[in-house]
Amino acid sequence: MADIDERLNQWLRDAHAMEQQAEQMLEAQARRIENYPELKERIERHITETRSQKEKLETRLAARNTSASGMKDIAGQFSAMMQGVGGALADDEVAKGILASYTFEHMEIGSYRMLVAAAEAAGDTETARVCEEICREEEAMASWLEDHMSEITRAYLMREEVSPEAAKR
Ligand code: MG
Ligand code: FE
Repeated sequence: MADIDERLNQWLRDAHAMEQQAEQMLEAQARRIENYPELKERIERHITETRSQKEKLETRLAARNTSASGMKDIAGQFSAMMQGVGGALADDEVAKGILASYTFEHMEIGSYRMLVAAAEAAGDTETARVCEEICREEEAMASWLEDHMSEITRAYLMREEVSPEAAKR
């Protein structure tokens, strides 16, 4: 496992597992949100992007004569964090969900930046290009969350005073 190509393959598989986890997390959030239509709509758009990211990674893995490894350990690492997102237990579910999404998008951004560097080091320009492209979508999602998190937090806090059950999702 000393060589750049093998390391790149492994990171592509890790990214694929990360996207699987992202899809599950986002689906759970979108399903539960009722009273924050803008947030729900943006999450649903990102679910579509996430599915296409998974396919792009599968295509790059196949082009490199390898494949996704199924559920990898990395997925398990994040599942604990995601439990808080499925969020049935959190009475401030929508707020915890935004925080988890904001964190997750930044992990994705970091992962794809490293993948671009690795693909360039391996001389695989198409994989570098695809990872750049995916990275732009993660950055757009992160900046949407950044632009809306204060407003959603305020809406949540106002509603909670009147109706905690309606506020939480
Ligand atoms: Mg993603
Ligand atoms: Fe994402």
